[in-house]
Amino acid sequence: MRHFVTSIDRPTLLATLLLLLAIAQPSHGAEGFFVPQASYLTVTAGTDARPAQLMDSADWQPLEGRSPNFGYIEDTLWLRFPVPERRSLNLLEISYAHLDQVRFFLVQDGTVVSSVTTGDAFPFQQRPILHRHFLFPFERTGKGGGYEILLEIQTSGAMQVPLTLWNDKSFFESSFIEDQVHAVYYGILITAIFFNLFVFVALRERVYLLYVLSTLGYLLLIGTLNGITFQALWPASPEVQNRAMLLSIPTALVFTLWFSRSFLNLEKTSPALERTVTLAIVINSAAALATFMTDYSTAIRLVVAISIPSSLLLTVLGPQQWLRGNRQAVYYTAAWGALTLGSAITAANKYGFLPNNFLTVYGMQIGSALQAVLLAMAMAVRMFQERQDKVEAREAELRAMAARRSAELKLMDHALHNPLTGLPNRSSFEMTLNDLMMRSPEKRFGVTVIHLNNLDSVTKTLGHRNSDQILELASKHYNAVVRDLPGAISAEQTDERSYYLTSLDPQTFAFVVNADIAEAAARSVVKALEDIRYPVDYLGMQVPLDARLGVAIFPDHGLDANTLIRRAVIAEGTERALERGMAYYKPSRDSFSADRLTIVSELRQALIDNRLALYLQPKVSLATGAVVGLEALIRWPEKQSQIRPDELVVLAEQTGLIKPLTRWVLEQALTMRSRLLEHGWSLGLSVNISPNNLREPDFPLHVQRLMSSFHQHRDSITFEVTETSMMQDPANSLTALKQLNDSGIPVSIDDFGSGYSSLSYIKQLPASEIKIDRSLVSDLVTRAEDRVIVQTTIDMCHSLGYKVVAEGVEDETTAGLLRGMGCDMIQGFLLTPPLPFEAMLDWLSHSDSQQQRLG
Ligand code: C2E
Ligand code: CA
Ligand code: CA
Repeated sequence: MRHFVTSIDRPTLLATLLLLLAIAQPSHGAEGFFVPQASYLTVTAGTDARPAQLMDSADWQPLEGRSPNFGYIEDTLWLRFPVPERRSLNLLEISYAHLDQVRFFLVQDGTVVSSVTTGDAFPFQQRPILHRHFLFPFERTGKGGGYEILLEIQTSGAMQVPLTLWNDKSFFESSFIEDQVHAVYYGILITAIFFNLFVFVALRERVYLLYVLSTLGYLLLIGTLNGITFQALWPASPEVQNRAMLLSIPTALVFTLWFSRSFLNLEKTSPALERTVTLAIVINSAAALATFMTDYSTAIRLVVAISIPSSLLLTVLGPQQWLRGNRQAVYYTAAWGALTLGSAITAANKYGFLPNNFLTVYGMQIGSALQAVLLAMAMAVRMFQERQDKVEAREAELRAMAARRSAELKLMDHALHNPLTGLPNRSSFEMTLNDLMMRSPEKRFGVTVIHLNNLDSVTKTLGHRNSDQILELASKHYNAVVRDLPGAISAEQTDERSYYLTSLDPQTFAFVVNADIAEAAARSVVKALEDIRYPVDYLGMQVPLDARLGVAIFPDHGLDANTLIRRAVIAEGTERALERGMAYYKPSRDSFSADRLTIVSELRQALIDNRLALYLQPKVSLATGAVVGLEALIRWPEKQSQIRPDELVVLAEQTGLIKPLTRWVLEQALTMRSRLLEHGWSLGLSVNISPNNLREPDFPLHVQRLMSSFHQHRDSITFEVTETSMMQDPANSLTALKQLNDSGIPVSIDDFGSGYSSLSYIKQLPASEIKIDRSLVSDLVTRAEDRVIVQTTIDMCHSLGYKVVAEGVEDETTAGLLRGMGCDMIQGFLLTPPLPFEAMLDWLSHSDSQQQRLG
């Protein structure tokens, strides 16, 4: 057939073509054979020629070379050669399986004594000997010599006629060995096919199926070339054999290309190459289809022509990907290398460049088997690797989940306890109280505070370190006293902790008792009071803390924790408590209520008269030292000494003034930003929003209107909300925030770590920034525990895609620590306290020197 001619005329490195070549020409190592020197004659097809006439013709030419090869000719070829005297030679082999029609004549002294016709255009059974090559046994019955063999051959493929004369016994010995090698070779391929088929069935991964199809394609290609498929699969159908010949080349290539694409994961590693391979697949498929529409000789030339660049592509894929660092490519290259090298060795042997031995004769088969085995191994390795990667990913996920959980627990613990004494804090106490009142509204509870009036002077005398230790001692002591009090109710009870006492602020403790039980045990109460008021024994010193107690009773003095605590504190501050060490709340002793009323109406008026002020505090990037934004903070200049901004906000929230207050702040902030822009400062502005605002039905609309009249501030006004505050009404807060976010307002989570920070809730918020609460930042230098919490918080927030700001940074050591932890921004007195607008402009223009300090 044509392509053998092509490949022989132009020897290349191409594995496929060498493979065709190698198989088409078997090599016999045994004795007992003879390669005849023939002459030839060509006759135009269709001419009626008789052997006897032809033999006398003068046109006979001597044939050169061991393996007569005429390429593609339409003429009928006649060959003749004398049979040597050796009587043992009794079999002619044409070791090429694809000749359409061969006529064999045994001639003695010019007379035909026997003739046989065969060829691959005839059913297999008609062959004189059933073998994939053409075999002609002959007998020389007549005495003497003068025997000649004459062959008449026609074929539509390549005219190749490798001739060997044999002794039949030697032939079958030699053929037997070759068959065994082939059997081993096919066995390896079939094993690899089945193994990977099972793997595919088990794993359903396409690459295994592609391997199976590709190897199957190979098996068919080689079997067809060898003539084995004809003999074994469709001996009665020569036309099927021809079709198989045409289809096996593009089919093997299509699946091999497809397999390589998937195996090397080209989609990810090299999209350009992937496109090339896909194109090759399409072209080969088209060629396979085209064979149905053209005649045999055109079709075979087409598929072979296309197979050359396709094979070249397959050969360069491996090294190219290897160079690019594709791990899979190492095996792939080795596998193709084995096939190419094996084929090259066998080809060289055919051309006589290498001596005959097992390796050179069967190099191609060995290489091809090695290829199949290497690729199968590679896929086993790949399967193992993928399993391993999956297991590792799963483990990492579990670890991250555990870390997140433990960080959440730590945060929660931190949020509910006093860092110094470990006692439950105000939030925790409020929860305990509310819970009690809800569950037992019929009972009476005594909410009691213990205030240490002398702690300040102790600190001034002995220093913070000592006063901290004294506080710790006192807390343990009080906790024990309260526990023994009749009617005492525990604030926290776990295996490790048993707290009756809680900590409201550093100088104030609180606890709750069942009032009826306690009042019935007056003597114990007096004893406990004495114990609490007794000075604390510290390093042999009797340190007087001047503890005074105040009590408010549920339900008489209040129905909610906040009020009850506040009133207990008021009771503690009265003359009576000073005198007796303890006092009950009495409305007449509450001067604060009245004060409060006046201050509310003053605040209302201040808002109307525009007498509030908005201060600004900068937020600085730790990486660049640049100012990246400003936070707006409310101030009431006239009342600076009487009421802190956070108290002011609480007051506004309690009285409904928060609505006009926030709107005033917003308008003010927008105006300020316009002025900042005029001065060349394009900085984002953050505004604090109360959860009450989020509950105003028209709040999002109001903000949208405002933003559209100041559209230059889109995406530049951030809303800071605390997560704890939103917990009161999570669903509606979420809706409002999402609406706001959609209209160009980024959200920042304020005071993170001060409440029950639940990352699962926060994850739903449309937030882009998290501000770590001052309480976690301020003791970073001294408290390792806080460092762990802050570090985990930063890591977790980063993994969720948030920028992290640390609040309340007051010194450079803390800033340095935060930078080391990967925190993005800081805010705090280290840079500057909040400043009025003009002062902030000044600060900004000098902020270069500030950056120096940070850098
Ligand atoms: P916040 O939102 O956490 O604001 C930060 C507070 O920390 C500010 O207190 C600021 O002055 C203070 N601060 C900043 N750096 C440092 C530092 O390095 N050390 C210390 N010790 N403190 C620092 P400020 O201005 O008193 O405000 C207190 C809280 O009042 C704010 O806490 C915020 O929750 C609320 N607030 C302030 N202005 C507004 C407002 O316009 N609207 C609403 N709804 N709340 C506001
Ligand atoms: Ca804030
Ligand atoms: Ca804050």
